[in-house]
Amino acid sequence: MHVTPFGACGTVTGSCHLATSGDTGVILDCGLYQGEHERRNAAAFGFDAAAAAAAVVTHAHLDHIGRLPQLVSDGFSGPVLATPATLQLMEPMLDDALKVMTEDRRRAKKGGRPMGPPSWQADDLDRLRDLFIPLDYYSRHAIGSLTVELKNAGHLPGSAFVQLEGDDKRLIYSGDLGNRRKEVLPDLDYAAPADLVLTESTYGDRNHKPLQETLDEFATLVDDVLRSGGKVIIPSFALERTQELLFYIRALEREGRIPAEPVFLDSPLAIEVTRLYASLREEFGLKVRRLFDRGVDPFRPKHLTITKHVEDSKRINYRPGPATIIAGSGMIAGGRIMHHLIHHLGDERSCIIIVGFQPRGGIGRQLVDGRSTIRIWGRDHNVDARVATIGGFSGHAGRDQLLDWLSGQPRVALVHGEDTARGSIADELTKRDQEPILGVAGSPIDV
Ligand code: ZN
Repeated sequence: MHVTPFGACGTVTGSCHLATSGDTGVILDCGLYQGEHERRNAAAFGFDAAAAAAAVVTHAHLDHIGRLPQLVSDGFSGPVLATPATLQLMEPMLDDALKVMTEDRRRAKKGGRPMGPPSWQADDLDRLRDLFIPLDYYSRHAIGSLTVELKNAGHLPGSAFVQLEGDDKRLIYSGDLGNRRKEVLPDLDYAAPADLVLTESTYGDRNHKPLQETLDEFATLVDDVLRSGGKVIIPSFALERTQELLFYIRALEREGRIPAEPVFLDSPLAIEVTRLYASLREEFGLKVRRLFDRGVDPFRPKHLTITKHVEDSKRINYRPGPATIIAGSGMIAGGRIMHHLIHHLGDERSCIIIVGFQPRGGIGRQLVDGRSTIRIWGRDHNVDARVATIGGFSGHAGRDQLLDWLSGQPRVALVHGEDTARGSIADELTKRDQEPILGVAGSPIDV
């Protein structure tokens, strides 16, 4: 058996790999490049999509599923295997990807710099849906001479890592590994000893702050801003980070650590995902399941307002008094968060809280770097509001958790990490007599 990485080599987006045994090829994730690497989405996959027997999907984040419709457009017609929860969450995520792709092209055309034709269309997405096959955790499925099994990765509801067996060999592919002890999701499973582990290395060079410290920091800040009458503005990713924030805001309100002021959930995609969460209750940790059992919605702060329509979103900005606004996009690359920033960057009582990764050159990174003016849509805005970064809500395993998960594995191929992160973990693995391999796009690795 071989596995060839075709994406996410030295980056954290664009995950796509191909495992082969004889003439059976299994695609492991097929994700979009995001941020600074976006242009790579227009390039060919580097393998024959039509010849692959199946695709296995680890979780519903776009950087792991966003190019699946393109795979279909390129002739792929095999089953797409994932847990039932992942398949459910993929629906709104891919619908939104189509919407964003269409909107980008419309805007580019209007601005006189038309983009090339999209690499996939709505009917490719329809055909992709027909290929979905649910595969429960711990049940086995044969693909040609290979057997696939999914185990819990603790990163999203339904997230999995993949165990692939054939030729008397075992390959483990991590997908994204969750951050342990985060309450909302169950802790990830450990992997069986394998001939090769192909793993993410996002935080290979650093650990996260402990959760309790993160919550203390968040509570102090939010309490302070709301009591002074300001707005708390949080750019947030629609799947996982948003629901995590809603969960902790509710918990902190109940503990009396922050006042129960209005909370606006202002992202149609995040609203849809939050709605789906109620039907995925089996996927969560014990604490969340218990709350659901008691008829309590764990993701609903006391005064939550859902703003589906643009007009309602705009109205939030003319509303006096303290409030928390959670809006997309998480990377501040467009979406409703832009209006909220324009209205509140100049308000010294308000605070922008950054809770997720911000790419180089983006507005989020400029805010984090402490710039005094920010240019949005051709106009400069003074930054009088406070800007705070709270990193501990990460949905990824930190360095020590990664090393713990990998312990005892003799050979580890590293993908899905910037080169500093995977270089750092590679050095540590060498010290532990585990063989690190840096994944290179298009280069097969023996299992
Ligand atoms: Zn992910």
